[in-house]
Amino acid sequence: MRLISLLNHYQHFPGFVYERARHCASSQTIEIVVRPRRGSRPVCSGCDKPAPAYDHLKPRRFEFVPLWGCMVVLLYCMRRVDCRTCGVRVEAVPWGIGKHQLTKAYMLFLAHWARKLSWQETAVSFRSTWDKVCQSVEYVVQWGLEHRQLGAIVAIGVDEIQYAKGHKYLTLVYQIEQQRTRLLWIGRERTVASFEQFFIVIGERLAGQIEFVCSDMWQPYLMVIRERCTQAIHILDRFHIVAKMNAALDQVRAGEARRLAHDGYQPVLKKTRWCVLKRPANLTGQQRFRLHDLLRYNLRTVRAYLLKEDFQQLWGYESPSWAGKFLDDWCCQVMRSRIEPMKKIARTLRSHRALILNYFHARKQFSSGVVEGLNNKAKLTMRKSYGFRTFHVTEIALYHALGRLPEPDVAHKFF
Ligand SMILES: [Zn+2]
Repeated sequence: MRLISLLNHYQHFPGFVYERARHCASSQTIEIVVRPRRGSRPVCSGCDKPAPAYDHLKPRRFEFVPLWGCMVVLLYCMRRVDCRTCGVRVEAVPWGIGKHQLTKAYMLFLAHWARKLSWQETAVSFRSTWDKVCQSVEYVVQWGLEHRQLGAIVAIGVDEIQYAKGHKYLTLVYQIEQQRTRLLWIGRERTVASFEQFFIVIGERLAGQIEFVCSDMWQPYLMVIRERCTQAIHILDRFHIVAKMNAALDQVRAGEARRLAHDGYQPVLKKTRWCVLKRPANLTGQQRFRLHDLLRYNLRTVRAYLLKEDFQQLWGYESPSWAGKFLDDWCCQVMRSRIEPMKKIARTLRSHRALILNYFHARKQFSSGVVEGLNNKAKLTMRKSYGFRTFHVTEIALYHALGRLPEPDVAHKFF
């Protein structure tokens, strides 16, 4: 009985008292019976105002944070109120919410651990289930989204991420200011219609204040940004340009390797994939040796490689006009190279010239490196967890990991 008087001493829940505790050894459960404080009035769950009691229901169990390896359960007979505005309603209790079997404190506790461990590991560690962990994260995320302050948004980055099996994509929008990097929004596809939803969510006023937008060259994104962020400088994503160039180079290399093999030449291009795709600084000793060897041949792959490496100089420029001049020269050179995949890149770069140079206009302040970092985290979140097969669960998991959402206040903090 000491436990009960100790618990009551803290008065966690005004209007309620702990009555008695019972330890059930066979199920390793501590049951704590809660009852209303004498003379206290129940609160209507519809309008949060006190109302006269009407009747009470059968005892309900609320799972609390486990202690010493035991499950802790609060037992309480919910009252119903006769509310003047809402009619007969179940009362609101400070430890629980809606029809949830778990107390708020326990949901917050599980959600906290679900950010560090995978959901499955969290469930196993606290003798709970994946579904309950999922419910907890859902509660915390919903609360967070309802209570978050969007404030002024200066810079956003938009990117896509592959999810589930096959070619399904999500659109992720991040805020990428130095003091504030967080996931703002998740869209179901990567279409114009889905990305436009983001601007509907934040409203015209906030959209009009956005100064910088980073994105890749995905056409629907470009279209929406042009239309919605009329005041913003749109910066094309450096990492995506490099990735595209690597893809082109890989295509050249693979094609040439096939042709050489077909014509019966010695396979000089074998095992050179990473030699040409990696930046020279990142090569291993062995790869550097291979590359050195490769550069002796007059191959299309070698010429494409040299063009790609040459292009890296672009990012070193400070002035937009010098960067522009370099870009034009580079594109001219590529157009004369007769290497079709590279020529395709040059054509793309030419048609996005202004957006690429915006990177220099924005004084490199907002690069999509931040976006890339956040996207890697997002991928990790999805990889860590099995069972994120539905959009809804993926959505709450990503908000939970990257949204920096505010959390509900509870009477008990366990971490
Ligand atoms: Zn009411």
